[in-house]
Amino acid sequence: MNTLLTNARIATMDESFSIIESGYVFISGKTFKQIGAGAPPQDVLKQADVTTDLKGKWIVPGLYNTHGHAAMTLMRGYEDDLPLDRWLKERIWPFEGKLTKESVAAGRDLAMVEMIKSGTIGFLEMYHLNMDDFASRIEQVGMRAVLTRSVIGLCHREEQDAKLNESADFAARWDGAANNRIHTMLAPHAPYTCPIDYIERIVDRARSLSLPVHMHLAETKKEVDDYHTSFGLHPLDHLVEYNLLDDTSWLFAHAVHLEDSHVSILAKSKASISHNPMSNLKLGSGIAPVMNFIQAGIPVSIGTDGVSANNTLDLWQELRTAVLLQKGMVQKADAISTQQALRMVMREGANALQTGQKGMIKEGEEADFIVVDHTAPHLQPETQLHSHLVYTAVGSDVSDVYVQGHCLMKNRELLTLDEEKIRYEVNNQYQATVQSL
Ligand SMILES: [Zn+2]
Repeated sequence: MNTLLTNARIATMDESFSIIESGYVFISGKTFKQIGAGAPPQDVLKQADVTTDLKGKWIVPGLYNTHGHAAMTLMRGYEDDLPLDRWLKERIWPFEGKLTKESVAAGRDLAMVEMIKSGTIGFLEMYHLNMDDFASRIEQVGMRAVLTRSVIGLCHREEQDAKLNESADFAARWDGAANNRIHTMLAPHAPYTCPIDYIERIVDRARSLSLPVHMHLAETKKEVDDYHTSFGLHPLDHLVEYNLLDDTSWLFAHAVHLEDSHVSILAKSKASISHNPMSNLKLGSGIAPVMNFIQAGIPVSIGTDGVSANNTLDLWQELRTAVLLQKGMVQKADAISTQQALRMVMREGANALQTGQKGMIKEGEEADFIVVDHTAPHLQPETQLHSHLVYTAVGSDVSDVYVQGHCLMKNRELLTLDEEKIRYEVNNQYQATVQSL
C-alpha cells in the first residue's frame, strides 16, 4: 500500500527542527519513502494507491506517553481530593478489587480511544491484570505500546516468585510482537510495595532477559520519609547499595523527591525519567526537579499516569503543564525551549519506550505521525507552528493518526475501534463495579 499526502505543512522535528511549509509525504508500506517541498513529482504520483490533499494541515510526529495505567481510565473522577496513600488504600485498591476481565478491557479501550483522538501513538502500560488480553487488543488496534505486568511484593516468597515468573514469561512472549509495535519491561510497582531483595531478583531477571525495568520512584515526600524511617536511607540510595542501577536500563516514573546527589547518581546511570506533572499536582505530591535532570543530561519524557489521578490522557495538556511549571519554578522564561518541549513527547518518548523509533518525520523511518487541523481559532495566526503545538494545541485538533503507515483515525473517525460501543460499555462497567462495592 502506497499512501501520498500532499499540500501539508510538515514539522519534521529532525535534528534542526526544520519545517517544510508546503510539501508532501509518500509512504510505502510502513516507511516514509519520500518527503519533499512543493508538489510531488510525477513518479510519486503514479506510485500512490491513495492520495489525500491535506489542504494546509500540519503533519507532526506522533506523541508518546511514557507512564500510565490504561485500565484505570474506568476510574476517571472517582476520587479527586485525597493524597496518594489514602487515595490508594481507601478508594483505588477497593475499586480495583472488584474489577473483572470485562471492566478492565472497557477501561483500556476507552484509554486507547482517548489517546488516539488526542494524537498519542505509543504508551507504556504498568498493570497487573489481563495483560495478554491487552496485548492482543493492541495488536488489533495498531498502536505502539510498552507493556509491563507490574508486581507488588508485600507477600510471601512463593507468591513473589510466581508473580515475577508470570511477569517475565509475559515479557518474553510479547517483546517485539505486533510487527515490533509491542515491547516489554519488567516492573516492580515501587520501593514501598516491593522489598529490596525482591527488586534485586526482578532486576537480575531483567538483566538475563535484556529487558529494561520500570518503577514508580519517590513520588511523595511521605513515602520517602517512611522509607527513611524503616530502612535508614532514601529508596534510590537503597537501589545503589544493592548495585541495581548498574547494567540495567531503568525508566523511573515521577522522581519528585530526589536530592542533588540522586541527580548525579542518575546522570551516571542509563536511567531516564517519565515526568508526570498533572498527577503529581493533583495528588498533592509535589513538583519534580526536571530542570536539574535536563541540566545533568538525564533524558526526560512525559507521562500522564493513570486517568484516575490526572484526569485526562491528553498529552498536549500534560506537556504544557510540564513546561510552565519548570519555567515558574526556576524563574527563567527560557528554561525549556518550545523545540525541547516537543522533543519530550516525541523523540524522548520514543527513546524512553525503547521503540527503536526516532520521533521524527524522516525518509527511511517508520511512518508514525499525526495530522493537526490548523483551522481552530487558538492556532491563529498560523505562523508559529512549534509554539502553537506546545502552548495552545488540544487533543481535538488532531484529525488523523498513522502508525507504521496504517491509518488509525481519519478526519476524527477511529478506524480500528468502535467509539460508540466503547462509550456504552464503559458506562455499564463503571456502574456495575460501583454497585458491587
Ligand atoms: Zn503510576
